[in-house]
Amino acid sequence: MADNGTSDAAAAAPPHDAGAAGRCPACLSVDLRGFLEYEQVPVHGVLLMYSREAGRAHPRADLQLAVCSACGFVTNVRFEAGQHEYGPDYEESQHCSSTFSRFAAELARRLVDDFDLREKSIVEIGCGKGEFLAELCRVGNNRGVGIDPACRPERIDAATAERIEFRPEFYSAQHAGLAADMICCRHTLEHIQPVHEFLTLVRRNIKSGTRPVVFCEVPSLEIIVREARFWDLYYEHCSYFDRASLATLFERTGFDVLDVWLDYDEQYLCLTARPSDQAADERRESRATANADPDVASPMADFAARCRASITQWREVLAAWSEQQLRPVLWGAGSKCVAFLAATGLDEEVEYVVDINPYKQDRFLPGTGHLVVAPESLREYRPRRVLAMNSVYRQEIQAQLDALGLDAELHTL
Ligand SMILES: [Zn+2]
Repeated sequence: MADNGTSDAAAAAPPHDAGAAGRCPACLSVDLRGFLEYEQVPVHGVLLMYSREAGRAHPRADLQLAVCSACGFVTNVRFEAGQHEYGPDYEESQHCSSTFSRFAAELARRLVDDFDLREKSIVEIGCGKGEFLAELCRVGNNRGVGIDPACRPERIDAATAERIEFRPEFYSAQHAGLAADMICCRHTLEHIQPVHEFLTLVRRNIKSGTRPVVFCEVPSLEIIVREARFWDLYYEHCSYFDRASLATLFERTGFDVLDVWLDYDEQYLCLTARPSDQAADERRESRATANADPDVASPMADFAARCRASITQWREVLAAWSEQQLRPVLWGAGSKCVAFLAATGLDEEVEYVVDINPYKQDRFLPGTGHLVVAPESLREYRPRRVLAMNSVYRQEIQAQLDALGLDAELHTL
């Protein structure tokens, strides 16, 4: 999950100039239209903060989203890549959740079966803490290379870790020619702005004469737009895809797209592809024609207004819960939570944020500086309202509230 453009990509096209020049970083056409702005949001959502003061003093920057009317790609035209620290304190793992772990395990098994990945080599670009790569290696008895400045090999069981070479660095031209039967890139591409350059690099780095399957997973823009999920828009994510724009990007950078689908309650967008031998110009023709839809930007027309309405509504709900002394807490101390608080401006209305990831507990949120606590601490605080930051975890959270003997009313975004 932690990767950005390579240094040579950044040198070729400074990320903050991509939007300023009006050029789409995905299809390179010149038709970006702004549709939403947030000023001064925290630059990180999941970087661990060691004090309330550090959380509140965390750097902020502007979010100005624009949609490409040629391919549907959405980008933050004010994004500056240099703002981010992707290191060991970048705590993005969701594997503490049984819901998420089950999803990841099933996905790994399906990929191993579908592409016969047994006794093979797998490269994961932006492997995060390495849990998914470890799962692929366990299930198919594969070997792996995990590239990510935030990787933490010590969290992987020793037997599996022996099969994986972790490289705590950004993906770059230095990774050319790595043997791979599969290249995996999950929740990484949305952190990169020069996505066309990045995938061109991935394509160029593939060892000649090989056709590894490429698996890519990113948040889906479609559900964000449909449900006006303002909490899914944050500074770390400078790139947003729907099915068409993701497929277009892969086709234009030298891949044949095998499949594109939505998963995880339609929150994630997944794609499989293989490097193509077809000439780039032929491919461009086929997809560009298919996408030449003058109305591609139209779903964005009222998006900002719907987000504003939702922000107002949640602000009022939380303020009322606080006034009624229902001790509301937020559940899930990730980027969604940081974005939710930044957009609504809520602060003292909420005392605590809960997270089951022990690495997040007793740390503080970037932005508001809220203390992150373990679910067990709610036994004493006894909240009457819990607002979960993702509805996909509703059952899991309800089970934990029940186990703690708490009769708090559970709500979800
Ligand atoms: Zn475009």
